[in-house]
Amino acid sequence: MTVEGCFPCRWNARLDVLPPRERIVVRDGWRLVHAFNTSLPGWLVLVPLRHVESFAELTSAEAVAFARLARAATAALEEVVGCAKTYLMILGEEKGFAHLHAHVVPRMPDLPDDTKGTFIVRLLGVPEAEWVPEGERDALAHELRARIEPALA
Ligand SMILES: [Zn+2]
Repeated sequence: MTVEGCFPCRWNARLDVLPPRERIVVRDGWRLVHAFNTSLPGWLVLVPLRHVESFAELTSAEAVAFARLARAATAALEEVVGCAKTYLMILGEEKGFAHLHAHVVPRMPDLPDDTKGTFIVRLLGVPEAEWVPEGERDALAHELRARIEPALA
């Protein structure tokens, strides 16, 4: 089901033409993507393939798949970008993004105090000139997929 005006639904409906950064892994009801408007390499987002707006609307199978994907994504990020751990957040307050999505954010070892904890959101929604370039997001997507797919097999 696609909901009018919902950006994630629009992209979910075009899986076959999405670039690597928008489909790092697609399986078990979820799509793992690299956030587009962040300055932090490796800021990932888990998006369900169907339109739900609350975590409570997930089926048990989708919730289990979410946990497995979040764990595998965290392990891959620790290897690929060298983060110490990840932050996991579900917010969904931006217009056009009520579609459930969970941020999987690499917490780098050298993260400055002014972006620690909830202040990490300062690295999202930054000016376009500061976005991680598309080519770098695609390269990260390939490296992460190579680790996540085998971990879930
Ligand atoms: Zn949607």
